Amino acid sequence: MRCDLCYQSEPTTYVELHHNVGMLLLRREYTTQGELCRGCLGRAFWHHTLRNLTLGWWGAISFFMTWYFLASNLVSYVQARGELAKAAPRRAAPKPVASGEEAQRLLEPFEHNVRMRLRDGETPDSVAQDLSRYHGVELVSAQRFVEQLREAA
Ligand SMILES: [Zn+2]
Repeated sequence: MRCDLCYQSEPTTYVELHHNVGMLLLRREYTTQGELCRGCLGRAFWHHTLRNLTLGWWGAISFFMTWYFLASNLVSYVQARGELAKAAPRRAAPKPVASGEEAQRLLEPFEHNVRMRLRDGETPDSVAQDLSRYHGVELVSAQRFVEQLREAA
């Protein structure tokens, strides 16, 4: 989605933020509403919060509106942050899974460790599963590696 403020293609979420400007007998409201990215959401939140705190209070109705906006902005902000966290792209790409020769080469340094674990009575299967999970190696290759060591022992 495109952010309504900066027009970048980023994960966005819909939000409405307000501030009140009190002028004793008059008051004005300012609103930001739209699909915002994380950066703009933060900037907009502080923009409205700062103005509520400094310009909001001056008037009877304004006094109450300012409290209301401060609270509702905070709720909207926290919810929007939650939405964006869910939408955030998972940047960590999955590790490539090695197989065949490549897998054997990756696992070689753990040969001693595997022998120890087999000697301690762990099943070849659970050892192979750990190897596969922690070292980014195809399970079948890990099983073959463990089998070889077991036969050699
Ligand atoms: Zn933006």
